Amino acid sequence: MEKLLVSACLLGCRCRYDGGCCRDERVLALREKYELIPVCPEQMGGLPTPRLPSEITEGRVFMKDGTDVTAAFTAGAEAALYLAKTLGAEKAVLKAKSPSCGKGLVYDGTFTGGKVPGNGVAASLLTENGVAVYTEEETDML
Ligand code: SF4
Repeated sequence: MEKLLVSACLLGCRCRYDGGCCRDERVLALREKYELIPVCPEQMGGLPTPRLPSEITEGRVFMKDGTDVTAAFTAGAEAALYLAKTLGAEKAVLKAKSPSCGKGLVYDGTFTGGKVPGNGVAASLLTENGVAVYTEEETDML
């Protein structure tokens, strides 16, 4: 069965910054076609749960209190890529708009709910290395 990297929060893991999840039945249904590999780049980068929310500003990632967490986000992205390459996953379904997992659109760095074009740190690294990234809104393409 083909392997598919998936944001763990979409599968019901309570790994979001607020200790919650984003369980999505459209994503869970993909287990009929794929072997799902859960990843949470923020946890894999060493950040605790719960944690303050983070957003991207000018290529770096900051928590709401101003702490620069770029290194943790980068480490988590590299861990997700390592898993994808080691396990042979060529596709990923990642949570939309997250500063780690978002594809095409992310929060704008003002913590006001605004969004700007761009990718999260993990989505970006995976894409650059040949992993096809989809959001939970694009499961019909898989
Ligand atoms: S880093 Fe990705 S998998 Fe982890 S909670 Fe955020 S959106 Fe979900």
